[in-house]
Amino acid sequence: MANEYSIAIHGGAGAMSKGKLTSAQEEEITAVLKSIVEEGLAALKNGGNALDIVQEAVVRLEDCPWFNAGKGAVFNHQGSHELDASIMCGATLDAGAVSGVRFSPNPIHLARAVMDHSSHVYLGGAGAEAFARDQQLPQVSNDYFSTAMRYQQLQTAQQGQGVTLEPTQNDFKYGTVGAVAKDRYGNVAAATSTGGITNKQYGRIGDSPVIGAGTYANNVTCAVSATGHGEHFLRHVVAHNVSARMQWGKQTLERAAHAVIFEDLPSTGGSGGLIAVDNQGNITLPFNTEGMYRGWGSDQQPAESKIYT
Ligand code: ASP
Repeated sequence: MANEYSIAIHGGAGAMSKGKLTSAQEEEITAVLKSIVEEGLAALKNGGNALDIVQEAVVRLEDCPWFNAGKGAVFNHQGSHELDASIMCGATLDAGAVSGVRFSPNPIHLARAVMDHSSHVYLGGAGAEAFARDQQLPQVSNDYFSTAMRYQQLQTAQQGQGVTLEPTQNDFKYGTVGAVAKDRYGNVAAATSTGGITNKQYGRIGDSPVIGAGTYANNVTCAVSATGHGEHFLRHVVAHNVSARMQWGKQTLERAAHAVIFEDLPSTGGSGGLIAVDNQGNITLPFNTEGMYRGWGSDQQPAESKIYT
């Protein structure tokens, strides 16, 4: 039976070995995830639209320093922060995206503004910042995003020879955030926001702001938000690939998402996961890493959240 409404969120997939987090930390993170799902479910129940609700869920995740988006974003090689975000409406196929953002506390708001108030889909770097100022969106200094935990991760990555995506001696989970939802009107939407990857090269852009790779939504099929090693997610056009498998290959959401995460991505060594809802409100949250911060719920299933399998 179709779900009248549903929502799923993620706070990133990656190499977070069990035991790296204390049980108190695990409880804190799963409680945050669950409360964001509960808020989303309440808003969906009250007739909120999927697009606004995924944006709001991502804002909550950006504001939480545990996750690699907004406050708590990872450091690049130069020791500063460059953030990426995107949002897409499945009803209209409207989309907005930004990358290399340095002064916007909630890059997802900026992505939404690009979608709603510009004639473009994707703005990068200084142009995106200028647009944020034109739109009178809040601005912060770049060190607003810094936390001690992320700084420590940068130090460890740099001591370990630089380009470190999944070092074994520390917890470098990816930590990107995202949300997908289906509302009572049958519309789906997706949003994703990230600081990228610790110690990334200046100017590096991953999959998260790229429509079709990190984020995709189409009422004909589903809404998808991805997390993982962006270089692979870009090459497999992950989010659109799930939709295309459904639309043209007639696969179910579950089959399509699992094929991308467990067959396509590993073929080039890619690791990570995704969350997706289809236009019937079915939810899937596959990942090929040890864990993925995630939460989900629907009109038929109360909010739940998990880190590991
Ligand atoms: N996909 C993101 C990137 O490559 C990282 C993540 O998911 O945490 O920038």
